[in-house]
Amino acid sequence: MTLEVCTIGGFSECGRNCTAIKVDDEVIVIDMGLELESYIKHTQNDVKNPVAKEFEPLVKINAIPNIDHIKDWHFKIKAIIPSHGHLDHVGAIPFIAPMFPNVPIVSTPFTIEVIKEICKGERMTLPNKLIAQKLNTTYKVSDKIQVEFIEVTHSIPHTAMLRVITPYGTIIYANDYKLDHTPTLGPPINMEKLKQVGEEGVDLLICESLYASEDRHTTSEAHAKQMLEDALLNNPMPDLEKKGIIVTTFSSQIARLKTLIEIGKKMNRQVVFIGRSMRKYCTAAQRIRIVDFPKSIPFHARRPVVQNALEKIQREGPEKYLIVCTGHQGEPNAQLSRMSRGETSLNLNENWLTIFSCSVIPVESNIAQRKVLEKELSSKKVHILKDLHSSGHASGKDHEELFKLLNPKHIIPSHAGPEFGKQLIKIAEKLGYKEGETAHLMGDGKRFTVK
Ligand SMILES: [Zn+2]
Ligand SMILES: [Zn+2]
Repeated sequence: MTLEVCTIGGFSECGRNCTAIKVDDEVIVIDMGLELESYIKHTQNDVKNPVAKEFEPLVKINAIPNIDHIKDWHFKIKAIIPSHGHLDHVGAIPFIAPMFPNVPIVSTPFTIEVIKEICKGERMTLPNKLIAQKLNTTYKVSDKIQVEFIEVTHSIPHTAMLRVITPYGTIIYANDYKLDHTPTLGPPINMEKLKQVGEEGVDLLICESLYASEDRHTTSEAHAKQMLEDALLNNPMPDLEKKGIIVTTFSSQIARLKTLIEIGKKMNRQVVFIGRSMRKYCTAAQRIRIVDFPKSIPFHARRPVVQNALEKIQREGPEKYLIVCTGHQGEPNAQLSRMSRGETSLNLNENWLTIFSCSVIPVESNIAQRKVLEKELSSKKVHILKDLHSSGHASGKDHEELFKLLNPKHIIPSHAGPEFGKQLIKIAEKLGYKEGETAHLMGDGKRFTVK
């Protein structure tokens, strides 16, 4: 009679999330994510010396979770269960899941579509069966393991808080979530449901800790919408109607993209989406009808097509368009950086506005790249508006609320290194938890016996 957890990845640093749960001799693996910075650095930028996209080399550079932490459990794996479609949760599936060809991948419908798109991008077909599980339903892995996909708010559609129900106890996996009462796409967070889950008993909560140190609630997606509407509709800068506008945001942020389409319509501008990942996520969303993007909206992904589209925009008048594109972190190869360097047909100058509807992801390379991008834009006298954004991650006060609702016996911080995890434990301590007894800082590759 054992219920055991192995914290495979995402517990020592932010990225490559992966957790295994073992019930007697059956195992499920939740999430198989990428650590994007290492992955991109070693597979794309370093063209002269590319690292093979296989398990061993990718593990060596810390880009994917080291599934060998549970080598003794490999033959017991019954299901792979991603919680949502962000790359730090599903990006390593093409490299790890084929090692277990008979194990199904079970997740929410949008997440399954995203996984298909990722595999298409890698030019591979998964041998694993893909099972789309509706939100707020329960998947029976075996007689001893059931997984409920509780719909929660985050920054990508169809995010699930997973409730793993076993004969020896219940584990909640809240990695990632936010408590949004006024989202702009999908239902608000169901507090009643979370309370009920708490009343029915939670033995262990695995909880993201990224913004645990921020002693506040995360603002709603409605707030980001308001900021964009204020900048572009309600309180625009002088002569905005004569300016070309570029908005850059996360391509998986479908709610934000929907807002931008609505704003574009009100401004009487043609919205144009540019960027490969933009097309990937929007195709997935459209395929399962999460949103119905108007047919008139073009998605330009491949470089020659983008080139032609931008040429047309410059020729016909940028003031007729609202360009939505990738590259908000200043990625040197993304379209926005190319535009800023004058490598496209767009003639950026003081008649242009660039809006960053995002935050800078706080890793060194992003901070440096963004600086370069903003410097390029400023040198061309482009107006810049920054941080018109709401995060998808819960902050300190949200975590406190979640702990009270779920009332778990034990808490394990995830989704960041120990310095962030400690902040989450501090919040738990206010509620009577004790580090080492009921709140546990784990690190990658560690095991924890629940019962
Ligand atoms: Zn996420
Ligand atoms: Zn994440």
